[in-house]
Amino acid sequence: MENELTGRIVLPDDPDYRKARKNLNLFKSKFPGVIVFCQEEKDVLNALKFARENDIPFRVRSGRHSYQNFSILNKGIVIDISEMNSVSVNGFQRTALIEAGADLGNVYNSLWEHGFALPAGTEYSVGVAGLTLGGGIGYLSRLHGLTCDNLLGVRMIVPKGESEAEIIEATKYKNRELFWACCGGGGGNFGIVTLFKFRVHRIKDVSLFRVEWDFDQLEPVYDVWQNWAPFTDNKLTSSIELKAKSQNLILAEGQYVGPKEELIELIRPLIKVTEPRKVQVAELPFNKAFDYFNYPAGNIPSYFKRSGSFVYEPIPEKGIKIMKKFLELAPNEDAQIWQQALSGAVQKVRPTDTAYCHRNALIAQEYNTTWKDGDEARINIEWVLALRKHMEPYTKGDYVNWPDLSIKNWPESYYGENFDRLRKVKTKLDPRNAFRFRQSIPPYTD
Ligand SMILES: Cc1cc2nc3c(=O)[nH]c(=O)nc-3n(C[C@H](O)[C@H](O)[C@H](O)COP(=O)(O)OP(=O)(O)OC[C@H]3O[C@@H](n4cnc5c(N)ncnc54)[C@H](O)[C@@H]3O)c2cc1C
Repeated sequence: MENELTGRIVLPDDPDYRKARKNLNLFKSKFPGVIVFCQEEKDVLNALKFARENDIPFRVRSGRHSYQNFSILNKGIVIDISEMNSVSVNGFQRTALIEAGADLGNVYNSLWEHGFALPAGTEYSVGVAGLTLGGGIGYLSRLHGLTCDNLLGVRMIVPKGESEAEIIEATKYKNRELFWACCGGGGGNFGIVTLFKFRVHRIKDVSLFRVEWDFDQLEPVYDVWQNWAPFTDNKLTSSIELKAKSQNLILAEGQYVGPKEELIELIRPLIKVTEPRKVQVAELPFNKAFDYFNYPAGNIPSYFKRSGSFVYEPIPEKGIKIMKKFLELAPNEDAQIWQQALSGAVQKVRPTDTAYCHRNALIAQEYNTTWKDGDEARINIEWVLALRKHMEPYTKGDYVNWPDLSIKNWPESYYGENFDRLRKVKTKLDPRNAFRFRQSIPPYTD
């Protein structure tokens, strides 16, 4: 008997369609033929079977944050997991079962009720699914690793035979290659994750710092930050925002899992040779900290272009001057360069131990612009792409969770030497390439 779609189904004529189809990035948004909001695993299974049996293109969606809108498409089916979002904690084992549709706000708040944390990103509306499958960088990364480094297992709906689908599990011991691929191989490539099992960490109070400088301090401040942030105590993860000149703000922030007095000592190198206009340090419960890092703007759909890369060696003076020049010429005051220190626990894992390969990078960085009106797209996108090009001599590789269609050598750039192994996983699991989009991992063909 032919399969039917089940779950909450939204069609273009439905009043909910406008809201249902919208992803975070409004630029080049798409118009799916049907959106299936799965309520249980069976709905996901049915949706994949239906799409395959009827040969209808589809995409998988959880938090809607894909920069390039890889989780939506025109005409086909969007299999949306976001209404499957429960979180349960086993305090004794220090593990959590998290349904793949949960967003980070839900994850942080639910774990906090039990006194635990999962190292993850900042904005509440980011989906744990896309984040984990691509890696997962955040303010606990230098202490506890990437989100995927804390993954213990997944349940997944994958293709079976010519047009079927089945539920499988992958852990370090079972379907090991698939599990390896789920740790940084990127979302939407192999199957649909319905459930994650994570190791979680006890947490209580943390200390935050926030230091501000004037724009004209950019060069000395950045140089001190980049030579300090990836090398300081692993309990401290920090970021720096180099804002458009018109904002006159360079901002470094960070989270330290320890008391305020220790953090004050740790940030001394950052402030002693520069001239900050404001220094703030506070000790507070972890829930106030993740709330602080959740910038509301990151949760509201808007037009944006973001691209990024990794920094493996401190950026020399020439490269810092380029960043400053571009910020002087920024298309609007929301344009910025954002960087987060890595190293620490992220580097303790070897580049081939997980599909996430950029273990030796010191910093992950992004060039971001956002604009209000569709007509401003060109100037903003050109700014990002030109900045990216000028910084190429000082950067290396790209983060699959910050995908950019302008990256032509994306297989090497996202995956380095792991690409071949990822293709082998893909060939075994999805030889007919049911899960495909413009930068998806292709299977080998005979
Ligand atoms: C404002 C903002 C803030 C961000 N902050 C951070 C951060 O702090 N740290 C960080 O590391 N990254 C961050 N990111 C990047 C983020 O990790 C990626 O955008 C991620 O892919 C988002 O996942 P999602 O589920 O929200 O998105 P979606 O658009 O739903 O999905 C992203 C990709 O994963 C696939 N996918 C989704 N659900 C599933 C599933 N259940 N099974 C299999 N594949 C699936 C999709 O098909 C798509 O290819 C941020 C992005 C934005 C826009």
